[in-house]
Amino acid sequence: MCTRNPVIIVHGGCGNYTEDRKEVCLLEVRKAALQGYRLLQQGGSALDAVEEAAVILENHPLFNAGCGSVLNECGEPELDAIIMDGKSLGTGAVAAVRNIANPTKLARLVMEQTKHVMLSDRGAARFAKTMGFPEVPMESLVTERASERWRRNLQPGSTPVDSQIELGTIGAVALDSDGNVACATSTGGLTNKMVGRVGDTPCIGGGGYADNQSGAVSTTGTGEAIMKMTLARLIVFHMEQGMSPAEAADTGLQSMWTRLQSHGGVIVVNNAGDWGAKFTSENMPWAAATGDVLFYGVAVGDVRTSGTADIPQ
Ligand code: ASP
Repeated sequence: MCTRNPVIIVHGGCGNYTEDRKEVCLLEVRKAALQGYRLLQQGGSALDAVEEAAVILENHPLFNAGCGSVLNECGEPELDAIIMDGKSLGTGAVAAVRNIANPTKLARLVMEQTKHVMLSDRGAARFAKTMGFPEVPMESLVTERASERWRRNLQPGSTPVDSQIELGTIGAVALDSDGNVACATSTGGLTNKMVGRVGDTPCIGGGGYADNQSGAVSTTGTGEAIMKMTLARLIVFHMEQGMSPAEAADTGLQSMWTRLQSHGGVIVVNNAGDWGAKFTSENMPWAAATGDVLFYGVAVGDVRTSGTADIPQ
């Protein structure tokens, strides 16, 4: 059996962040990557590691996922998530779910306990109930920040506040020591989106893709553009054609910009443990842990907020 050096990369969403938010988001993303890495070091699977990292960030109100999600046009959170296992291509996704704090966990149950890939809205709620999955009151998924943004956007003549200003979707990709890759991505979607709008995040090949034969990807950006490009699958395709994760990420993001003038961000790992964290937006908090070193950044070329740190044993 081959033993690989485990790798995990985590992102906190592409967008435009103020200085103080850059730092706090980066800190949380670093913590999530470290937690996932510990699990990998103890022999945990890539699937467990990406779930662990995603759940940590879903539980943090700073991010546009889980309890920090942005609200739809009616002021309600509707959450999307995907998880994918590169070993079997097993995939679970949930779309437009309510009253669920950790959609990534529910997505994993869809993967493991049903013959389907994606459940949405009412069907997902019904499945959650059958599985005894905890439902939470809607208010526990609504932060003051999300409500204020929703209210501001409703005002006639207001300049819409994009969800990507300072609020990020979250995602993780990992390679475990058995050579398996996995991805997870979770989001509240776009601020003031139409009720029932589903973005790229739960769509296989959009919000994420994982295949042991090449690698794994998690994406962030405007879902409508990512879906049109099938960005995650496109990046995997570029890796299949021989590109490194960093080249494949740059090429995929560049195609999305050229074709649709839409910015985005991606994290990528291949089955040899090479990785990349790339974005064409101003910012994307990201952290990667491998070989007992933590790499991190939030703005290209910003030496104050990017760097490396040894991971204590
Ligand atoms: N891709 C997400 C969506 O459109 C949003 C984001 O990544 O910021 O639902």
